[in-house]
Amino acid sequence: MTKIVILGAGYAGMIAALRLACHAEVTLINASDLFVERIRLHQVATGQSIRNLRIANLCPSNVRLICGYVTRIDPATKQVYVGEQAIGYDYLVYALGSRVSVTGVPGLSQHALTLNPEDSYKLIQRLRSAATKHVVIVGGGLTGIEAASEIAARYPTHSVTLITQGQMGAGLSVGGRAYLQEVFNQLRIDYIERTSVNRLEADRVITNRGDFVSDVTLWAGSFEVSPIARESGIQTNAIGQVLVDQYLRSVSDDRIYAIGDAAATGLRMSCATAMPTGAYAADHLLARLRGESLPAFQFAYMVQCISLGRWKGLAQWVDQDDQPQLRVIMGWRGAVVKELISSYTLWAIQLERFLPGLYRYPRPKNYGRI
Ligand SMILES: Cc1cc2nc3c(=O)[nH]c(=O)nc-3n(C[C@H](O)[C@H](O)[C@H](O)COP(=O)(O)OP(=O)(O)OC[C@H]3O[C@@H](n4cnc5c(N)ncnc54)[C@H](O)[C@@H]3O)c2cc1C
Repeated sequence: MTKIVILGAGYAGMIAALRLACHAEVTLINASDLFVERIRLHQVATGQSIRNLRIANLCPSNVRLICGYVTRIDPATKQVYVGEQAIGYDYLVYALGSRVSVTGVPGLSQHALTLNPEDSYKLIQRLRSAATKHVVIVGGGLTGIEAASEIAARYPTHSVTLITQGQMGAGLSVGGRAYLQEVFNQLRIDYIERTSVNRLEADRVITNRGDFVSDVTLWAGSFEVSPIARESGIQTNAIGQVLVDQYLRSVSDDRIYAIGDAAATGLRMSCATAMPTGAYAADHLLARLRGESLPAFQFAYMVQCISLGRWKGLAQWVDQDDQPQLRVIMGWRGAVVKELISSYTLWAIQLERFLPGLYRYPRPKNYGRI
């Protein structure tokens, strides 16, 4: 039987593993035995409990699970290494995802916390502490916005400030941005746009427009990816994402597929794109094993959803290239849409276990014709 090794049991890796499980010998390797619902880590940070999901319970018993940290890939001998343990493969699916980067600003790694899972416990404790009065969030992308709203809604007596280099919610329509500002005003979140952070200290954030007192600094900057592909001689882009062809195969080794945030697909790093790449790579690999072909991978964006605390949200319709449209669902309706879409990610994984191939994703109107 064909041996497929999947590195990373995030959204992309899980979908791929479940789709492939009944057709091949699948080994799934992940750093932890728990499935991390990354899209809910801002909820975890404010002490909300989310389900503890063991990867073993999400997979059928014929998936071999290895809980360990992948250190190296040797494409020449088709082996991956978890420490000293070597695991051979016929095909490899690289799905090591991403994490919030903590480099590039002096004091960042010492004085800021992130929404990376290893910081969750410290964040919960620090936000709850009676000594905490000022919280500064750095980053005006979707994770920064969601974190700021969640914290301000949960801890109304904290002063919450969001600092961003660009414009907050830059990818939203005029109506979407206006609603975002309205909710930030209601939650009394100060937002400081077009401001660069120069340095972090234990009790302050130093920017080009002055200093901000901070008891807890939450860094919600850009994502970085694992260096393992590059260090293993697989061709990557400047940030370490695996360069792939239109079928999501590594351009330097077509027995390696790369999916999710770890792949240079040109798509936004997101769960919304990670799951489709996982499903497509599995379908392509299965078609290939049967000697069939599949049209190139294509994906159409539909909606961007943002939670603004638990009771408000924003669902921004976008065109297939992720450009905002006029249609926006706001308020509690927006929160419902966001919650349904967040829950759907897990339902899709759970359903895929029993009905592999069921998960579907949006494709452009001209799908299959290019
Ligand atoms: C707070 C927050 C909210 C978000 N909200 C949204 C949202 O609303 N919508 C959206 O579309 N996206 C959202 N995202 C982004 C989304 O979570 C990621 O883009 C998505 O998780 C990427 O999926 P993935 O499968 O590629 O990787 P990941 O989910 O990052 O999974 C990668 C897996 O690989 C494992 N791994 C990494 N390195 C190793 C190693 N060396 N050895 C073994 N295992 C390893 C990790 O432990 C992890 O299990 C959010 C992110 C955050 C942080």
